[in-house]
Amino acid sequence: MIMKKDDSRWGDRTRAIHVGEGVDEVTRASSPNLVMSATFSPDHPTVDQLAVKIAALECAPAALCFASGMAASHALLAGRLNSGDHLVISDTNYVGTAELVRDSLPRWGIEVSLVDTSDLNEIETALTPRTKMVWIETPANPIMRLSDIEAISGLAHDLGVRDVVVDSTFATPAATRPMELGADFVMHSLTKYLGGHGDAMGGAVVGRTEDLDALNLEAMVHYGGVLSPFNAWLISRGLATFPLRMEAHEETAIQVADFLEAHPAVVRVHYPGLKSHPQHALAQRQMRNYSGMMTFQTREPGQAIAKRMIEKLRVVHYAVSLGHHRSLVYWIPTDMLMDSTFRLGPNAEARYRTFAGDGVFRFSVGIEDADDICADLDSVLQRC
Ligand SMILES: *Cc1c(COP(=O)(O)O)cnc(C)c1O
Repeated sequence: MIMKKDDSRWGDRTRAIHVGEGVDEVTRASSPNLVMSATFSPDHPTVDQLAVKIAALECAPAALCFASGMAASHALLAGRLNSGDHLVISDTNYVGTAELVRDSLPRWGIEVSLVDTSDLNEIETALTPRTKMVWIETPANPIMRLSDIEAISGLAHDLGVRDVVVDSTFATPAATRPMELGADFVMHSLTKYLGGHGDAMGGAVVGRTEDLDALNLEAMVHYGGVLSPFNAWLISRGLATFPLRMEAHEETAIQVADFLEAHPAVVRVHYPGLKSHPQHALAQRQMRNYSGMMTFQTREPGQAIAKRMIEKLRVVHYAVSLGHHRSLVYWIPTDMLMDSTFRLGPNAEARYRTFAGDGVFRFSVGIEDADDICADLDSVLQRC
């Protein structure tokens, strides 16, 4: 197969369909082959095809694919940090990452400082001469707090930090390309928007070619988080419609956010595309697409509404995960998450609560008709 490499004049929609793909020389088939082989040299063709496409969408030199987002995060954290190094990381992020850095990294002799990365001063105060990596997630799961990638990359590099990593799963390359803003690595859960259909897990690390070459042997062969060709093929198929889906997610989410903000049962909505988001100015600067992720808080205790959601919702599915074509909602109580995962001190917890109160509904707005999503939600929100 002749693989078409990136053409820098192409727009996002063309790249999402054509980069890394090509007509099969033997059969003249236009749709990509699924190569189910465990032996290959040097890269797996189906997995490599996906990596080339992801790098093109990030306008970045290279990408490595993994079996899950967590395999990608683990590869970066374990592959780049040594005993005695120091990591500065957001105190609020995806629970798997949050628990890995709190529970495993200290056992390996890596010192971890948890900070509110929406505050540059907190980051600056935390940096030491041993800080090798600053890790941010923007918007942060689950509360939609943003971090300024350009400002943080500038600050960290000026003070001698080697790696700035951005978990860009919520934003996606449709919104933000962190390497263009100074980041060294971008991490994605492909299970979310990039695959987009909730039927395949995967992860990716995007970065400079030499950095990824250095990570490749240890991360792939020794850690073993290898992406299956079938999942790579499914994710590639999902990626063809990625730019279109993100436009639809945003368009639908804006209508749903407006509906929720005006709803008498709803106290607050956090969506970067709303003027009411406390960091809307940063969102406008940093995000070309606001995606479909939002949170809302209700007057009635969330637990009671969650129970009705499980019983009554027909369009929106009450379930974990996010970024799929179908809408997903999940209740995340603050006390529980503090105990199980974040374990923040009083100041950090107070800042978390300014975004989340006693709990949020994390809402991944799908690409169904906005009116149907709103009517479905309305059926479980009590009018006072
Ligand atoms: C889901 C998620 C991950 C982990 O990805 P998996 O593919 O589920 O392992 C990491 N970061 C963020 C922000 C996520 O939402």
